[in-house]
Amino acid sequence: MKKHNFSAGPSILPQEVFDKAAQAVVNFNDSGLSLLEISHRSKDFVAIMDDARALVLELMGLTGKGYQAIFLGGGASLEFARIPYNLLKEGGKAAYLDTGVWAAGAIKEAKLFGETVVVASSKAENYNHIPKNFTVPADADYFHCTSNNTIFGTQMQQFPNVEVPLVCDMSSDIFSRQLDFSKFGIIYAGAQKNMGPAGATLIVIKEELLGKTGRTIPSMLDYKQHIEKESMYNTPPVFAVYTSYLTLQWLKNNGGIEGAEKKNNAKAELLYNEIDRNPLFVGTAKTEDRSKMNVCFLLKDEVHTEQFDKLWKAAGISGLPGHRSAGGYRASIYNAMPIESVQVLVNVMQELERNI
Ligand code: PMP
Repeated sequence: MKKHNFSAGPSILPQEVFDKAAQAVVNFNDSGLSLLEISHRSKDFVAIMDDARALVLELMGLTGKGYQAIFLGGGASLEFARIPYNLLKEGGKAAYLDTGVWAAGAIKEAKLFGETVVVASSKAENYNHIPKNFTVPADADYFHCTSNNTIFGTQMQQFPNVEVPLVCDMSSDIFSRQLDFSKFGIIYAGAQKNMGPAGATLIVIKEELLGKTGRTIPSMLDYKQHIEKESMYNTPPVFAVYTSYLTLQWLKNNGGIEGAEKKNNAKAELLYNEIDRNPLFVGTAKTEDRSKMNVCFLLKDEVHTEQFDKLWKAAGISGLPGHRSAGGYRASIYNAMPIESVQVLVNVMQELERNI
């Protein structure tokens, strides 16, 4: 039986995407060949890469606005270094908002390249909220933030109006809500949550920002080279790109980002309402900063852990334990998660309440 998969990533994708991707591995487009054995420079694959890149910009409303979308290997973690390599000028300064483990990872890499100002941090409160009222230095080369903090279940509800280029790690909430994407200079996201399998990272770049650092950048780390080569500088992660493309098509056919946002709001409301109503549970993130993608909560009394764990496993739920650095529970309810699965979790929480 298919499980209700609340895993934080790699994570649930639409069933039709799994089916189509599986079919392409066996026999791609009825060609008698697997997707995995054709050249990435074949007409068929080049068309997929081109369409996927165009679809990203279309879904974000960025077509014709000076942006490029590229799919690269290396994971979102490589962008932690690639961003300062491409944007932090020799002798310049970068500004970062520290909202979690991944933000801290990005800060660590930026420090290798130059002065790195942390404008605010919620680390002292175990990253249970998004800091507000910070000032971004006007002379920074860019400001980096993390839109959704996968481990701690917080999400930026607003993005600051900054004078400097806004760079955002959207790994765990990309395509989940409508935003004015033209506010951003660079958006990046590992594929393995809202988009596809692990192995590809999507980077959306305002092209005019590149080429200004004064440093020589190794080709594989140079966004400009990847853009010039239309995301084919080297062999791209073909399976991850194709599967991401299928998910983007699924998103487009199901109401686009607007449609996804409505469903995501309903799912999050259902689950947070139960966490707030049920006397056995408590949410860990400050209410105003709660994530609609990763819902983190605790049992108020750990004595019920064994019973709760038994119940959700028996209900066919998978991937509920929190991240090893946060503990408790984390229900990741990405775009592909149906509200019916969230209802199953809510039912289990209510069953626990009745049983004790
Ligand atoms: N940023 C965020 C917000 C993440 O959630 C993750 C992974 N969970 C990463 C970055 C790191 O991604 P990757 O493993 O693809 O390097």
